[in-house]
Amino acid sequence: MAREPILSASTNDDEINHRLRPQYMRDMIGQRDVIERLQISISAAMKRGEPLSHVLFDGPPGLGKTTFATVIPRELGVNVHLASGPTLKAPKDLVPFLTNLQERSVLFIDEIHRMPRGVEEYLYTAMEDFRIDLVLGEGVNARTHNLPLKPFTLIGATTRAGMLSGPLRDRFPIREHLGFYDLSEMTRIVQRSATKLKIDTDPDAALELARRSRSTPRIANTRLLWVRDYAETKANGIITVPVALDALAMLEIDTLGLDKQDRAYLTTLVRVFGGGPAGVEAIAHTMNTAADTLSDEVEPYLLRLELVVRTPRGRMATAKAYQHLQLNMPTDG
Ligand code: ADP
Repeated sequence: MAREPILSASTNDDEINHRLRPQYMRDMIGQRDVIERLQISISAAMKRGEPLSHVLFDGPPGLGKTTFATVIPRELGVNVHLASGPTLKAPKDLVPFLTNLQERSVLFIDEIHRMPRGVEEYLYTAMEDFRIDLVLGEGVNARTHNLPLKPFTLIGATTRAGMLSGPLRDRFPIREHLGFYDLSEMTRIVQRSATKLKIDTDPDAALELARRSRSTPRIANTRLLWVRDYAETKANGIITVPVALDALAMLEIDTLGLDKQDRAYLTTLVRVFGGGPAGVEAIAHTMNTAADTLSDEVEPYLLRLELVVRTPRGRMATAKAYQHLQLNMPTDG
């Protein structure tokens, strides 16, 4: 879900992502409270020889939901099967995943809010009682069989906790929200990735890169790769502060780490809607983009920076947004 084009022809993104993804909880940076709670639940489940309770992660993209979903099974010493909400169109799409589960293994469903209601309801008995109803045969010969499943753990991830139905949400005993990372955590993530990829990076440059990565590990990693390519082509391969800043300026990333899409959102809100209030659909329509993309990927960070506020009548640009765009805020009346 990289938001930026792949700017480097020399890198195999999947392989690099794999190399950068922490393997165990001790390799993960930040999210300490989430990690501590999970460690307790994991060790208790292991002591009892039972599957870990079902876990739901929510939060904006790139903050570590998939990382947790792959780290947890490794900590438990079990297999993980990966599925994605939008590809589970009917209950029958879910059946092979459920019947292939081994005792105490993990099923990870990414974007779980995008499963149709019928699939969601089919999951209920699987989650609660570890059994499903299977219809065998057709027409008058159709018979329903009640099939027991191996006790397993479902890990769900969503960028939209609000879009999950109450009954599904309630079936996850463990629910964790992943928040944005602070500057010191982001700097450590940049340094960790630079070390793993053997990129020579000045500590101050790591800090500047961290500052301009929207408090999001995935964005820090993507930007680090671009800065590395830039340093190799335009400098001597070493990432210094001027090299990092020049490379990011070429991507039109500004001092707050906002990219073109973030700024387009702010300028649309300010110029077309007079600073708001405006609904996200109207803003999306004007920008010719999907409202989901704006509310999942753009707004959470703008809200966090207090460049935008949500009001009952819609989104509004704040004085800080006008300042950042170097525009005068209209005065009332
Ligand atoms: P999500 O599933 O929430 O979209 P991911 O788990 O795919 O996000 O995270 C994107 C990348 O960011 C990972 O490949 C990993 O390299 C990095 N990352 C995420 N969380 C952490 C963390 N806590 N510590 C270090 N790196 C992280």
